[in-house]
Amino acid sequence: MKIYNTLNKKVEEFIPNNGNEVKMYTCGPTVYHYAHIGNLRTYIFEDILEKSLNFLGYHVNRVMNITDVGHLSSDADTGEDKMLMGAKREHKTVYEIADFYTKAFFSDTEKLNIKKPDTVSKASDNIDEYIKIINKLLEDGYAYKAGNNVYFDISKAKDYYKLSGKNEEELIIGARDDVTEDMEKRNPYDFALWFTKSKFDNQEMKWDSPYGVGYPGWHIECSGISLKYLGEYLDIHCGGVDNIFPHHTNEIAQSEAYVGHKWCNYWVHGEHLNDKSGKMSKSKGEFLTVSLLEEKGYNPLSYRFMCLQSHYRNQLVFSYDSLDTAESAYNKLKSKIKSLVKNNEPIDSKSEYYMNNFKEAISNDLNTSNALTVLFEALKDNDINDDTKLYLVGEFDKVLSLSLLEDKKEVDSELIDKINKLIEDRNNAKKDKNYELADKIRNELLEMNVVIKDTREGTTFEIK
Ligand code: AMP
Ligand code: ZN
Repeated sequence: MKIYNTLNKKVEEFIPNNGNEVKMYTCGPTVYHYAHIGNLRTYIFEDILEKSLNFLGYHVNRVMNITDVGHLSSDADTGEDKMLMGAKREHKTVYEIADFYTKAFFSDTEKLNIKKPDTVSKASDNIDEYIKIINKLLEDGYAYKAGNNVYFDISKAKDYYKLSGKNEEELIIGARDDVTEDMEKRNPYDFALWFTKSKFDNQEMKWDSPYGVGYPGWHIECSGISLKYLGEYLDIHCGGVDNIFPHHTNEIAQSEAYVGHKWCNYWVHGEHLNDKSGKMSKSKGEFLTVSLLEEKGYNPLSYRFMCLQSHYRNQLVFSYDSLDTAESAYNKLKSKIKSLVKNNEPIDSKSEYYMNNFKEAISNDLNTSNALTVLFEALKDNDINDDTKLYLVGEFDKVLSLSLLEDKKEVDSELIDKINKLIEDRNNAKKDKNYELADKIRNELLEMNVVIKDTREGTTFEIK
């Protein structure tokens, strides 16, 4: 498997730390609102990565957090807590908001056939873990207390800018706004590990700590949850490209300061879904959710199909026109598969050729559009029988997860029985020279999208 590693800025051979076992961490949603379909593009890419690794023979153990505290409206330490914004907007408690939008998130991901990670953990459930890490960082001089908050001192981190490739001067110019907000920081890019000087009068989620009653910063959540469930050595960490700085940069700084060695070998980031005016967000333009697409009559899987047609490292611009095109291609694909008939014939040896091409496509930095091309080619191939095609569809769908064989069994047995019965009735009618009835049956079959052909070996049919 070859994958683009943001850490080294190149496509690299993927080698896990421990044989075939892969430890994978993905940043979860901030549950203050519905996920937009941009957020979900990132979860689709991560799902494809996990399933591709499993398909190639690895065993993936995947952990994801749910951010229900600490994520401020800027990704740094400024602005309001997003969860509080959600609670105020809906006149509910933060806990009610978190519970509601966590359920909504998993309902959306289910509709997109995104597998739930092996472990999902709420940020608010792991406070002891953050305190343990922060204590050590304070002890070892990586962290300091100022203005009642605890900050990480980025000047102590080894190669702080290695993931983002940014340089300090450029950041300091961009950081002027922060300087006024957090006067106590030694460096404007030092980030909060623990807030006690709450900026919010009615902060509901707060806990006792050695540094005073307060709540954790956003970045420490992911380090804490990853270290707790996956240990000191991580193979892959994923997120959208906006997570590279500051979130993942800060995760690396604090985790490596804590464990005392390199923490994660592969950092894999998905590009954004944009709308015509730029990056999709929850606050501007039409708020595109899975439910909205459903209300407009789209199948959520058409959106998944649309994402798979492009490469995860390319920006994708959303428009209803492109979704229409994707939906019609997806429906054509599904009806083509529906027309395949199980005959219990042996699987053709040529299936290996397609399996290898499919594996090559996904191993090549997750080239999902090539993987789809392999599927289309196999379906068009007249040299292989329908059983082989169905077998390949089933295998490929373990990664693509487009429900390509959905309803296939029911349709198979019921529909095929019905078609065979009608063909028999028609042949009997022909024998009795009742051509009127024979034509009537042919038309009935046509209405079911079944085209029949009389051959010397008997009557064959195709479902269009
Ligand atoms: P959030 O719920 O804001 O923490 O974001 C959840 C995930 O969505 C993160 O991994 C982000 O990097 C990702 N994300 C945010 N905006 C977009 C977008 N427009 N396109 C793709 N991914 C995004
Ligand atoms: Zn994270």
